Order: sequence, then structure tokens, then C-alpha cells
Amino acid sequence: MSSGVEGVRVIRRGKVWLVGAGPGDPGLLTVRAHELLARADVVAYDELVSAEILRIAPSAAELVAVGRRASGCRHHEARIHPLVLERALEGRDVVRLKGGDPFVFGRGGEEAEELAAARIPFEVVPGISAALGAAARAGFPLTHRECAASVTLLTAHAAQGDPHLTANITREGTLVFYMGLSRVEETCAVLVAAGRSPATPAAVVARATLPQERTIVGTIADIAQRTRDGGVEAPALLVVGDVVARRVESPPVQEPALPLARLKPEA
Ligand code: SAH
Repeated sequence: MSSGVEGVRVIRRGKVWLVGAGPGDPGLLTVRAHELLARADVVAYDELVSAEILRIAPSAAELVAVGRRASGCRHHEARIHPLVLERALEGRDVVRLKGGDPFVFGRGGEEAEELAAARIPFEVVPGISAALGAAARAGFPLTHRECAASVTLLTAHAAQGDPHLTANITREGTLVFYMGLSRVEETCAVLVAAGRSPATPAAVVARATLPQERTIVGTIADIAQRTRDGGVEAPALLVVGDVVARRVESPPVQEPALPLARLKPEA
């Protein structure tokens, strides 16, 4: 880690991996994310990362919660948690595990900028973003040749009256709002004001890919009420667009007429 050269101590900097943990189901981690986690020395994780995924790390690894809501954390001004920089400057490698994909919301871009500015080497490992996990599990595509030529990922915060977003909102196509559970009603009102029909299909998908997954389907006129009535809990996405009405369910798997074992030739 350090070497003495004519009395000068040179400390090698550690490397930081900005790793996407996917939407929740450990089976949706990438092979690369699993490998890095399984041999990690330090894991700095977001609140959205499940305990089941964290168990993949070696028991000797240092696990630190660095999410914005992590208790006792006061780093609103810093763009990356000071502990991540500290460990890397001490020469330790850090797996910075983030929910979904590191570069889709969640400030991964800012963390990368700060690492680059501190001359700490880093590598980004993509993950399955919540919109992709939710669509797959809820059973609707995000684009469809017949009704959605585009998909726009945005946050419900951004939807509140930002004029730059009006173009995205009024356009045809699928809209996926992150971080929006508490703002479903306001977001839908903004959409109607921007010209979307109140009859546009909409869905809220909560805890997608986890055992507590919930999908509520309606239109932008009633999805807020349905979500309230359903007692849905975060994290959740609001999906708006005709694709929601193209939900397809798989038929049940058919049991073979005879159990497979009985089809083998008798010994
Ligand atoms: N980088 C993440 C997003 C971070 S912002 C990604 O690519 O998915 C956090 C928001 O993501 C949450 O407020 C919620 O809107 C969404 N989200 C994350 N995990 C989710 C899940 N399992 N189900 C539904 N929404 C989820």
C-alpha cells in the first residue's frame, strides 16, 4: 500500500467502483456487481440497497450506510460521502453501491465528478434502473411500436412547473417519474395542464422486484386516489402513457400430463 522512496512515503490511492445494485431483487445484480461485492473491502451503500444484497459482501468487509437519509449524516453540501474519499485516500478500494443504475438519478454523476477532481480512480458498473425492473414485473413495455415511440425518465420534483420539462410532458410517449410517491396528485395535475388527456393510462409500481411489490393501475385522473386507497409505500414510480394499457400477463405454466421423472425409461 505504501513504499518508502528516499524517505518519501507514497500512498497508493484506492479505487472506487460506482456500482448499480438494481431495483431490489438480488437476482437482478449484474455478474460484475456480484463479483465486486463478494470480494469487497469497503462497501458504502445507499438506503435503497437491500440487506439481502449486502449479505453478499464478505463478513470482514466494512459496511457503511451513506445514503442521504442515513442517520447522523451531515453531508448535504458534499457531493460524495466524505468517508468514501477518506477510505480511497487511505489506499483502500471502495464499492459504492447505489440503487438501480448509478447514472440514473441518485447523483452518481456528481460522485464521479468529485472522484475525478480528487484524482481518485473510479469505474462505473451499470445496474438495472427501477423503471426497467418495474416495467418487466408489472408486465408493460416502456416503448411499443403502436403507441409509444419514446420513454422519458424524470423526477416528480422536476415536474413541478419547470418550463424546460413542458416539452417532454406534452409529447406523446411514456413518462416515468422517479421519487414521486408523495406527489402523484400534483404531477398528474401538471400533466393535464400540459395537455395530456385525463384518460391517459397510468400506473404506480412500488417496491418493484421485491417480495412486497405492488402495482396500481388507473388513469391520470384517478391514479392519485387509487394509490392513496391502496396504502402504497415507497420507493415507487409513476408511469404514464398508453403502454400501461398494454399490460400482458403470462398464461400459467402447464404441468406435464405425467411428472417428468415418470417419463424416464425404467431402470
Ligand atoms: N438510481 C436509481 C434511482 C434513484 S432515485 C435507479 O436507477 O433506479 C430513487 C427513486 O427510484 C425512488 O424514489 C423510486 O422512485 C425509484 N425506485 C428505486 N427502487 C425502486 C423499486 N424497487 N421500485 C419502484 N421504484 C423504485
